[in-house]
Amino acid sequence: MRNKIVAGNWKMNCDISQTYELLDELKDSELPEDVTVIVTPPFTSLQSANQALVDSDIIVAAQNMHQAANGAFTGEVSAAMLNGVGIDTVILGHSERRAMFWETNEILAAKVNTALENEMTAIFCFGEELGDRKSDNHFNIVKEQLQEGLFHIKAENWESIVLAYEPVWAIGTGETASPEQAQEMHKYVRGLVADIFGNEVAKSVSILYGGSVNPANAKEIFGQEDVDGGLIGGAALKAEDFIAIVNSF
Ligand code: 13P
Repeated sequence: MRNKIVAGNWKMNCDISQTYELLDELKDSELPEDVTVIVTPPFTSLQSANQALVDSDIIVAAQNMHQAANGAFTGEVSAAMLNGVGIDTVILGHSERRAMFWETNEILAAKVNTALENEMTAIFCFGEELGDRKSDNHFNIVKEQLQEGLFHIKAENWESIVLAYEPVWAIGTGETASPEQAQEMHKYVRGLVADIFGNEVAKSVSILYGGSVNPANAKEIFGQEDVDGGLIGGAALKAEDFIAIVNSF
């Protein structure tokens, strides 16, 4: 059985008091035991969030980190710094990082290595833009992102990897991929993993879907055979919606 996972990507939202407020609501709610729930507040709230959730099963993760161990990288945060405040899960390669902060597949490959060297779990994001889908190039783009950014790892490293398919055209737009489109891509990706790393690895890696998931559409999306959960943006900022999504399996 693959892990079911729902992760909230808070993006650049929630100052420290809003972080506490949202976490209080999540802590007080009934969450299913068989779903791993992850929240990703901004860097400034990570340590406090971890402390606030010390008696909870909810995992606190970071939205990004730098690939270098330390040095002259103004404004950046390293894996060891995250580890130091109790964080061992990180989102890598979100399309906003790729598009707005010029993160290439090559940079992401280095970030993946850093995550693994620091015994962190990486939630590795990938997904095509609208133009790629319109030109029927979406499978090629996804394959390239995975081959260049992730597939250099060893088979045993997959225990530390969660995949997140986020078609860029579905992020923050209210336009979700249809459950069939999500299933089609997830199945394709699992097939790619199987081809290179074998069936056992492919069967055990969780593949999340992200892009305009909400309480109304989560159940149908999570009901697809190769969809193991979601990476949630906007709807993760409202406790009621996020909890409803977590309960949508
Ligand atoms: P939305 O759920 O707001 O579309 O964002 C998805 C996302 O980018 C999660 O990482």
